[in-house]
Amino acid sequence: MAQPAVGLDLDRTAREALASRRGALVVLAMDGKVLALVNETIAQEKLPPGSVAKLVTAAAFMEERNVGPDHFLFCRGKGCWRAHGRIDLVSALAQSCSSTFYVLGSNLGEKNLERYFEETGFSPPEKKNLSSACGEGGLRISPLDLASFAVALANGGHLFRPYGGKLKNKKPRLIRALSWRPRTLEVLRAGMMLAISEGTAHKAFVPGTAIAGKTGTASRLDAPHRNYGWFLGFAPASRPRIAVCVLLNDATGYNEASSAARLVFSSFLKKEK
Ligand SMILES: [Zn+2]
Repeated sequence: MAQPAVGLDLDRTAREALASRRGALVVLAMDGKVLALVNETIAQEKLPPGSVAKLVTAAAFMEERNVGPDHFLFCRGKGCWRAHGRIDLVSALAQSCSSTFYVLGSNLGEKNLERYFEETGFSPPEKKNLSSACGEGGLRISPLDLASFAVALANGGHLFRPYGGKLKNKKPRLIRALSWRPRTLEVLRAGMMLAISEGTAHKAFVPGTAIAGKTGTASRLDAPHRNYGWFLGFAPASRPRIAVCVLLNDATGYNEASSAARLVFSSFLKKEK
């Protein structure tokens, strides 16, 4: 697997991207090697992921029901931020259509969902509930584990334990290979590319290179009206070299996390040219 050139100061860029905000920023290579890790403590905290979990719900549904990009649902706007109407899985991911993912979750059932969350590094809630389908209801994951998941989405399903940098683990280790159909990974990638080009992750757009990304927002239980803002993604979308996970502890929504990711992507891609 190709490694990004040595000597890129991604750690500094990651620090600049977070600026003075509280949160974490993780950049991994395609075998889980740490290329940047800002705030190691926060990066290992298990937090509610919000809509980034929809990627797992979509994958679980496609795998269990053997469907792909031609599967359509209908969003009337109930429990969603708008009435999306007839919508396929790629657009549902790009638009983060909650109505779609609740329907997929209830079709699958809590037990099925939980299995997929566990195998992708999420900690399911103690009491099973269908809100997990949209990343709520007690589902948790750390920014570091979410970055590993982004690597797996980028590299064809290989979930690696992060290693190197300040981490204790110094060697790459495969945690598991997700046995998902290539078509499932393709739909997720397409949804994440559309999220960047015209969906909820558009703030991470970098001209000239296709990027894949997904945003999330989760309410903070300890601080009313404050949110965790998430972004996870990888670039270049067609031949990924890096995966990025951004968490902001005090976000108004998901745009700020996407903007921070954009700084990392643009710095990396500029140096790669
Ligand atoms: Zn919707």
